[in-house]
Amino acid sequence: MRENKPALIDPFGRRIEYVRLSVTDRCNLRCTYCLPKGFTGFEESDEWLTFDEVERAIGAFARLGVSKVRLTGGEPLVRRDLPDLAARLSKLPGIADLSLSTNAVLLAQKAQALYTAGVCRVNVSLDTLKPGRFAEITGGRLDKVLDGLMAAKRAGFAPIKINMVALKGVNDDEFEDMVEFCLVHGFTLRLIETMPVGDTGRKATRYYLDLQKVKRRLASRFDLIPGVMLGGGPARYMQVAGTPLRIGFITPISQHFCASCNRVRLSADGTLYLCLGQNHRVGLRPLLRAGATDDELEAAIIDALALKPERHEFREKPRQVIRFMSMTGG
Ligand code: SAM
Repeated sequence: MRENKPALIDPFGRRIEYVRLSVTDRCNLRCTYCLPKGFTGFEESDEWLTFDEVERAIGAFARLGVSKVRLTGGEPLVRRDLPDLAARLSKLPGIADLSLSTNAVLLAQKAQALYTAGVCRVNVSLDTLKPGRFAEITGGRLDKVLDGLMAAKRAGFAPIKINMVALKGVNDDEFEDMVEFCLVHGFTLRLIETMPVGDTGRKATRYYLDLQKVKRRLASRFDLIPGVMLGGGPARYMQVAGTPLRIGFITPISQHFCASCNRVRLSADGTLYLCLGQNHRVGLRPLLRAGATDDELEAAIIDALALKPERHEFREKPRQVIRFMSMTGG
């Protein structure tokens, strides 16, 4: 953080040090709980921030104490020249941790370039190890994701985390298999509860599974002890005793974790979202395109923080968030 700059502290005393940066709202998959089949209503690409604009925005966050940035989407790997952007962001003073969330369909081609550009950690969405089921959930091919994961391992990313959305009646017979898969490959597993984000996310809550129950089930098969994970974010971790495997439970519905929220989200069009589960937002693109100075940009970010709500209301107001998850990147 630059001398004399205020840290980003929200009205509830939470320090914001993490920006999830959506570089595109487009995706090459159509997961049943995220985007509707056949959806094409994406933003036009001239609505997206350019790399120069992203670099300026993230530079402003970094001067205000943000040290962690995650590239997300949509599917971030469909944004052309992503390694170039990654290289620019990883060099910004103050940015100590640049990571990526991806469906890994295109990761085999891009893993090495992204690692060289300074991306150090990668999270891969993977809800099933069965090719037919994978096609049903996502519309895509499992072998590409597995190739991407192996390329990420070879490139040196650490840790590699698997994000598995727990879906009742869809993939709830596979948690143990996924634990074994992660044990074999040295990945970390994170299980996620479905969230009512966007119309498709809302419909998918019929597959909602309380992860507290899943934790008890896994504990009957594996020797689970409390685990810690540096930079673990909202997940509560257990470790399989005698192994390095950690299993994170992301439970926005059954046990929300808003009190320790440390993040904001910047969408591809430069809208700053203060909470995944609420609509409070401020557009930074007009400022960036109107030639705002660095001081003006920083002031706008500090002012925006005053809007950060205390918590999401997924339970109380499940109809509230109409944007799809792909706009803010989860
Ligand atoms: N395409 C990238 C990926 O696959 O990681 C980044 C964006 S994706 C929207 C981020 C994460 O959000 C994925 O792990 C996805 O499974 C999750 N997700 C999407 N919709 C969700 C929902 N309704 N409930 C819970 N998780 C969701």
